Amino acid sequence: METLQAINPVTGDVIDEFQRSHPEEVTKAVMNSRRSFENWKKISVLKRMEYLKAIRFNIMDNLDDYAAIISEDTGKVLTESLMSDILPTLDFIRYYEKNTEEFLKSKKRDTPLTFQGGKSYITYQPLGVIGIIAPWNFPFQLSMIPVITALAAGNTVVVKPSNETPSIGALIERIMIEAGLPQGVVEVVQGGRDVVSALIEAKPDKIFFTGSVSTGKKIMEQASKHLIPVELELGGKDPMIVLEDANIGRAVEGALYGGLANTGQVCISVERLYVQEAIVDEFLIKLKNRVKQLNVGSGKSDDIGAMTTPDQVLHVQKQIDNAIKMGARLETPLLIEKNFIHPVILTKVTHDMEIMTEETFGPVLPVMTFKTLEEGIRLANDSDYGLNASIWTQDVKLGENIANELVTGNVMINDVLKNVGNPDLPFGGTKHSGIGKYHGPEGLYSFSLATSVMVNKGKNPKEVNWFPYSEEKYDGLKELLKTLNEDKNIMKKGRDLLKIGKKLKGMD
Ligand code: NAD
Repeated sequence: METLQAINPVTGDVIDEFQRSHPEEVTKAVMNSRRSFENWKKISVLKRMEYLKAIRFNIMDNLDDYAAIISEDTGKVLTESLMSDILPTLDFIRYYEKNTEEFLKSKKRDTPLTFQGGKSYITYQPLGVIGIIAPWNFPFQLSMIPVITALAAGNTVVVKPSNETPSIGALIERIMIEAGLPQGVVEVVQGGRDVVSALIEAKPDKIFFTGSVSTGKKIMEQASKHLIPVELELGGKDPMIVLEDANIGRAVEGALYGGLANTGQVCISVERLYVQEAIVDEFLIKLKNRVKQLNVGSGKSDDIGAMTTPDQVLHVQKQIDNAIKMGARLETPLLIEKNFIHPVILTKVTHDMEIMTEETFGPVLPVMTFKTLEEGIRLANDSDYGLNASIWTQDVKLGENIANELVTGNVMINDVLKNVGNPDLPFGGTKHSGIGKYHGPEGLYSFSLATSVMVNKGKNPKEVNWFPYSEEKYDGLKELLKTLNEDKNIMKKGRDLLKIGKKLKGMD
C-alpha cells in the first residue's frame, strides 16, 4: 500500500514515511475504541483528569522536541509551533482538568406547579466513540483540543490527522502511550479521504471535523446516511473593520498579525480589511512600512514561515493573479520563492473578486474603504462565511453595538485571533463556516449525551391527567388553563390552583 510522506515544506525533503491505514484497520480501530469505551466510561471524572494531567506533563517535558516536529511537518516558524499549537493545547487541558467535574454534574431545572411533587434535572453522559478529523494548519492543537475535550467527557476517540501532516499522528500516538492511557482510548488512523470514508462507515457516535467547506459538506452527506451527528469547524473570510477613531498604529499591527500569522493559514485570519475613508491613506502608508520590516524564513527570528503545501501556494497565487487581472492594485512586490510567499497588500479590490469572497489562506491583506458605519457593516456581512470578525475603534460601546450587527460566530474588538484561545469561550462559525460550538462548557456538552430526567415520588395512585376523561375533567381543565394564564395576584392564583387541583383529583 502507498505510504504517506511527511515533507518538510522549507527544504522539500521527505522527513518520514507512514503507513496509510487500510479501511479494515479503520474499522478495527473503531471496534477497539468501542471496547475501550466500556471501561473508560466507568472510571471517575477525577481519574480521567489524572490522565489529562499526564498528557499535559508529557507535553511540557518535551516542548522543544514537539515544537520541532510540528515545525518540520508544517513549515511554520518554531515560535508559532510553541505559541499557536502547543500553548493552546496546554491551556485547554488545564481548563478541562479544573472544570470538567463541575460541568458534568447534573443540573437542576424547574418543575411547573402543575406537575406537583416532581423534580427535574439534566445528566451528562458520554456519547461513545468520537471520530475526529483534523486539518494541517494547526495540526497539533486542532487534533488535541477536540481529543482532550472528548476524553474529558468520557468518550473514546479515533483521530485522523491531515494526510499533509502525518508526523502529528505519530506524535499523538507517542504522547498517549507515554502518558499511560489505556489501550484503545485514543486510536490514530492515517490517510486521506478513503480513511475518512471508512471511519464514517464504521459508525462512530459523533464526527468532529475541522477543515474546508467542501470536505465538510461531503462528510456531512455521508454521515447523514447513518444519522451520525456532525460538528463542522470550517473556513472563514474574516472581516476587520477599522473605524476612523481607531488607534491606527495598533490597528496596523493587528492587521499584520491577524492576516499574516501562520503565513495567513489560519481559519480566523483577517482576510478582508475595511478601513474608513478618513484614515485609509495613513493606514496604508503605515501598513506598507511595517510589512517591509517583516522577515520571511524559517529561523527563530523570522516572522513569516513557509506555506505548508505547494498546492496552497498555487491557490494563493491564482487568487492574487485573478484579482490583479480584474483591476486590483499590488501595493507590495509579489515575491514567491518555492513555498515562501512574501506578504502581499492589495487595494482597489471589490466583492466581485475571489480574493474578497473565497478563503485565501495565505499572507494577503486586501484593503477596501467605506464611508459610513452602515456601509462597513454591510460589506462585512456580505459573505458566505461567518467565523470571526474584528472591529477597531476607541469607542468600545460603539464596537459592541457593531458586534451585534455582524452575522458571525465570534467577534473581537481591538484585537485579533486571541478569542479562539480563550478556553472558556465557545467557538464555532455560522453560515458556511460551520455547525456547532466547542471550547468552554458548550464544548464538553457537545461531546455529551444530555439526558433530561423528571422524577415523581410515585406516592399517589395516579396522576390527575391520566384516564378516565369526563366532561367535568374537561371543565376543570379549562378552569385551570384560565387561572394559569390570567394576570392575578400570585397568592390568589396559588390558592385557586390548589382548589382546582383538589377538584380534579376528586374526579378520579
Ligand atoms: P481539508 O478539508 O482539505 O482537510 C481536512 C481533513 O479532511 C484532513 O484530515 C483531510 O485528510 C481530510 N479530507 C480531505 N479531503 C477529503 C475528502 N474529500 N473526503 C474526506 N476527507 C477529506 O482542509 P485542510 O486543507 O486540511 O484545512 C484547511 C481548512 O480548514 C481551511 O478551510 C480552514 O479555514 C479550515 N479550518 C477551520 C478551522 C475552524 O476552527 N473553523 C480551523 C482550522 C482550519
